[in-house]
Amino acid sequence: MEKNQQPLPEQARPESENLSPLSFTVEKSLKNGLGRIGTIKTAHGEIKTPAFMAVGTTGSVRFLEMSDLKNTGAEAMLSNGYHLRKKSPEIAEAGGLAKYSGWNGPTLTDSGGFQVMSLGSGLGKVVSMDRKIEKTKKKDRLALVSDRGVDFTDPFSGEREFIGPEESMQIQTRIGADIHMAFDELTSLADDYDYNVRAMFRTERWAERSLAEHKKIRDSLGYRQNLYGVLQGGRWEDLRRRTARVLGAMNFDGFGLGGAFLKEDLGKILRWCNEELPFEKPRHLLGLSRPDDIFVGFENGADTLDCVAPTREARHGRIYTKHGEIYLRKFKDSPALLDEDCDCETCRSGWTRGKLRTLWKSPNLAEKALYYKLASIHNLRFTIRIFENIQKSVKTHSYDTYKKDFLENYYGKDEVIRRKLLEK
Ligand SMILES: [Zn+2]
Repeated sequence: MEKNQQPLPEQARPESENLSPLSFTVEKSLKNGLGRIGTIKTAHGEIKTPAFMAVGTTGSVRFLEMSDLKNTGAEAMLSNGYHLRKKSPEIAEAGGLAKYSGWNGPTLTDSGGFQVMSLGSGLGKVVSMDRKIEKTKKKDRLALVSDRGVDFTDPFSGEREFIGPEESMQIQTRIGADIHMAFDELTSLADDYDYNVRAMFRTERWAERSLAEHKKIRDSLGYRQNLYGVLQGGRWEDLRRRTARVLGAMNFDGFGLGGAFLKEDLGKILRWCNEELPFEKPRHLLGLSRPDDIFVGFENGADTLDCVAPTREARHGRIYTKHGEIYLRKFKDSPALLDEDCDCETCRSGWTRGKLRTLWKSPNLAEKALYYKLASIHNLRFTIRIFENIQKSVKTHSYDTYKKDFLENYYGKDEVIRRKLLEK
C-alpha cells in the first residue's frame, strides 16, 4: 500500500481562493418537510437538487466524451476511491479530479469501502473478525475487517493491501473531488441486529477518524474539499435514528445514506435518518436510480443519488422509455425511436431501435462502441430528466400529478396499484 501513503504534492497549491465549505440552499420543501429542492455550491460549480450523479468509476463514464455527459444535463460526476487509488498521485499532480478528467464540474468520490469489502463474489465474501462464519477458510478471505480498517487482496495483482479511514481520506484528498465520503463498514441484508450494532459503532468510530484526518489535509489542492459522514444501521429504526443523531452532531458537510435496502423499506429507513439529520446539510443516497426509488428517495429527503444502472443497462440492451424498460433484442428492424418524447442527443439525431440493435449486435467493435455511447446517453438523459422534472413540478406545485403520470406510464396503472406506489 506504499503508493497510497505518498505525501501530497507540495506544489499542487494553485491560487484558487475557494476554500469555503460547500453551501446548500433549500428553495422549497414538500409538505412532509423531508423532500426538498435546492442548490449545492462547490468549488467547481453548482448542483441543482434533487440531482442524479453520473457514475464515472475511474474518472470518465464508459464510452462517453465529457461533452456527451454535459449534454445529458448531468451536473456532477461520482468516481470511485478504490478504483482510482493507485492513480491518485497523478490526479493530484494534475490539480484534482475535475481538471484531470476534463469534467471541470462538481465531483464526488466514494470511500472505496464498498469495493474493498465486497471483493470477490459480492457481499458473501465479506468476513469480519467479529463475524462467526466458521466455514470460510482464512486463506480464502479476500477482505478482513477490523477496527483498524480493511485488509484485502487486490483481485488483479494478488497483492495484500490495507485501507482504513485515514488511508481512504488520503486517497480521496489526492483524487480531489469536491465531496468525499467517510470510510464506513457496510452491512448486508443477511446481517442480523447484533452484527449491525457492532458495525454501526465501528462506522461511528471510523467517522471520527475520517473527519480528523480530512480536516488536516482537505485544502492541500488549493480548493475546499468536503466530507460527508455515511450512515449505516441496517433496517432497524433505533440504530438508524441513533447513528443519524451521532453523525449529525459531528462537523460533516453533508451525509451519505448507506446500506442495503429492501425496496419496501427504503422510504421509512430514509425517513428515520433524515428526520434526525440536520436539515440544512445535503444528503446523498448511494447506489440507487430506479424510477420508483428516485421518487421515494426524493420524498424522504435524499438530495442527490448515484447509480451505475442507467449506463450498465444500456450496454446490455435495456432501454428506458416513458412506457417502461424495453429490451432492444426484440426490436429488429424497428423504425421507432427509443422514446418518441425523449430530448437526448441520440433520439434527436433520429436513431431508431432497429438501427441501434444492429450496432449493438455488430461484430465490429467500433459499431458496438457507438451503440454503447448512444444507448448510455439515452438512459442517462432519461434518468436525469426525472430529476429535472421533479424540480420543476415542485416549483409549480404539481409534483403529485407529475409523479402519478410518470409512474402510471412507466409501470402501468395496475402495477402502480399492486405495488402501492402512489400511497404515502
Ligand atoms: Zn433518448
